Amino acid sequence: MPQIDVAVIGAGPAGCAAALTAAGAGLAVTLLDSVAVPGWRIGDSLPGAAARVLREIGAWERFARAGHLPAPLKVSRWGADEAVALDAFRDPDGAGWCLDRPRFEADLRDGARERGVRLHSPVTVRGYRREADGWELTCGDGSVIRAGFVIDCGGARSGFLRRERGRVVLDRLACVYQRVRSRPEQDRTIYTQAVPDGWWYTAPLPGRGRIVAFHTDRDLPALRDVRQRGPARVASSLPGLGGLVDGEPEAAVRVGTAYTVARSGAGAGWVAAGDSAISLDPLSSQGMFNALVTGVDAGRTAGAVLAGEDDAVAGYGERLGRIWQAYLRHHGMYYGMERRWAAAPFWSRRVPVRGSAG
Ligand SMILES: Cc1cc2nc3c(=O)[nH]c(=O)nc-3n(C[C@H](O)[C@H](O)[C@H](O)COP(=O)(O)OP(=O)(O)OC[C@H]3O[C@@H](n4cnc5c(N)ncnc54)[C@H](O)[C@@H]3O)c2cc1C
Repeated sequence: MPQIDVAVIGAGPAGCAAALTAAGAGLAVTLLDSVAVPGWRIGDSLPGAAARVLREIGAWERFARAGHLPAPLKVSRWGADEAVALDAFRDPDGAGWCLDRPRFEADLRDGARERGVRLHSPVTVRGYRREADGWELTCGDGSVIRAGFVIDCGGARSGFLRRERGRVVLDRLACVYQRVRSRPEQDRTIYTQAVPDGWWYTAPLPGRGRIVAFHTDRDLPALRDVRQRGPARVASSLPGLGGLVDGEPEAAVRVGTAYTVARSGAGAGWVAAGDSAISLDPLSSQGMFNALVTGVDAGRTAGAVLAGEDDAVAGYGERLGRIWQAYLRHHGMYYGMERRWAAAPFWSRRVPVRGSAG
């Protein structure tokens, strides 16, 4: 007999949205995460459309109080030397935000606790076993959780059913990044610029200056070059970017993977949400939005399955497949807009592609 209805692995944006939704439907939910207190990590830009989802899961009021920076202006040099500006007035969803990411995730966790979700953290889920009526999860601290349904929100490196799940890997995008301390009157522009070997991104971080990040493929020499010279230093000499990135860089230069991946995200007694199902190219700035939306859907799907709707899991898988297909169309369209270096390895690898997930 399961102790609880739903175990949610991972308390990032997807896991919290799933837990809040499932608990809101009256289910007994345990949310597990290996990190006790969310720390800073790259990924800060949240589109205005997220407000709707945050309201839906009851997280809006905390979010609005948290001091995230509204991002009224996006500027890009993409496909042409001229800069193109998109201000929030022309965006039907309104301005998005540059997040204080640790605060964002801590607030989501607090909201889940308030709704009756049991947060079990820090604890790493290490083993998974199917039972007749659900799952047995074994944790690194020796605890065992028995749940009727599992929602995997363990992110891009999730180990849940790793060997059983098919996957499509679209690219080997990597990111080298650094924080730059603030000037007193911080410019709030989010800026993206294509270059022959990849693309640059910079955005303000509330109270912490700016992030400056270069994206290229893992095997291209530009990655090592920018890493060695330091992203802030390289960026400061680029026209357009240099004017925004002129503060004191922090010493730490970090490198991360940003592969676009789809994994099968639904099966008997489980679904996956967020990056565990679909990891998006950071160019889209949609990763956290996708995590929130699929998290909500996963929480609802858990409720439907436990209420006896046998085809709910298949329906969820189909919806994931549609998100992936729409994403591929946009991905191909945006990369296809940049033709100045069409023969360069980075750009020639990014012709429109087709794929499937579910
Ligand atoms: C370079 C880069 C830049 C990005 N920029 C943006 C951006 O500007 N805007 C945007 O929206 N998105 C951005 N993203 C993507 C965004 O960060 C992700 O899409 C988002 O974090 C996905 O949320 P999630 O909840 O699915 O997974 P995560 O946020 O990765 O959360 C997963 C959680 O699961 C926990 N976990 C994993 N395995 C276990 C286990 N076995 N047991 C217990 N806990 C476990 C982890 O500790 C973690 O807390 C970027 C990504 C990269 C790589």
